[in-house]
Amino acid sequence: MDVFVKKLESLSAGIIYVGYKINRMDGFVAGRPGPMYECACLLDYALRERGVRNNFEIHFFSPDRSPGEKGAITDRLRERGIILDDGYAPVEFLDGGMADKDGRFRKADLVLYSPEITGPSLVQKSCLPVSIGGHIDVDKYGQVKGLPHVFAAGDCANHENPPPWVPHQAHMAQLRASAAAKNMKAILNGKRSTNLYRQELSCILDMQNDAMWLYRSEDGRPPFRNIFRGVRRI
Ligand SMILES: Cc1cc2nc3c(=O)[nH]c(=O)nc-3n(C[C@H](O)[C@H](O)[C@H](O)COP(=O)(O)OP(=O)(O)OC[C@H]3O[C@@H](n4cnc5c(N)ncnc54)[C@H](O)[C@@H]3O)c2cc1C
Repeated sequence: MDVFVKKLESLSAGIIYVGYKINRMDGFVAGRPGPMYECACLLDYALRERGVRNNFEIHFFSPDRSPGEKGAITDRLRERGIILDDGYAPVEFLDGGMADKDGRFRKADLVLYSPEITGPSLVQKSCLPVSIGGHIDVDKYGQVKGLPHVFAAGDCANHENPPPWVPHQAHMAQLRASAAAKNMKAILNGKRSTNLYRQELSCILDMQNDAMWLYRSEDGRPPFRNIFRGVRRI
């Protein structure tokens, strides 16, 4: 990101692409769409503040978006004049741009891209079971499949039967780690795992001059249960 910002500061005009890709092989959102939407909107804001927005094209691309995509986030991109390259999938980043599988070259002065997420590469070389999408394969208690005393939580780990919208996020990592720690304690005490974690999505999209809170949960109630209790009392 530092390199991106430094290069951006040196430009007074140009074409900038911002994009993401999701690994869906394990049935959930292993990628960073939220932060990349945020980056596109913050980039727009920063260029407007500098008074040079009209000198730049900002393109947003993702092979995980369909042409004609609709929704609140898409509206935020459109109202900022961000060009949507829905469905675009680069296969190679080259000097001065990127190429797709047909060899078509797109000129870009800067590209900010978040690739799909898999578990860390060391997992592939370890004795741990690996999911089809490259995560450490765990059950709904966070226990690594086939290894009763090994647990995993967070971005490195798979989910068992996840809802398709659940993302890799910090608060999910926290919920998973908390359940895994309790289950680990139970196992060490000769008991069975019983602690599950709640499937949630919660993302505050910071656009500097605006913001959106996107949320979803498995039971339809807001994530971070009870966090707003104090606020209601005021
Ligand atoms: C730009 C961006 C914005 C984000 N915004 C949000 C947000 O607003 N809300 C949200 O909930 N989530 C957000 N996330 C996602 C969130 O950061 C991750 O889901 C979360 O950090 C995952 O936690 P983790 O502990 O599983 O992994 P990590 O936080 O990645 O921690 C893994 C740690 O292991 C260390 N490590 C790796 N390999 C080794 C090794 N071989 N030996 C020793 N240590 C090692 C790493 O250095 C790291 O410290 C964002 C992510 C990005 C990239």
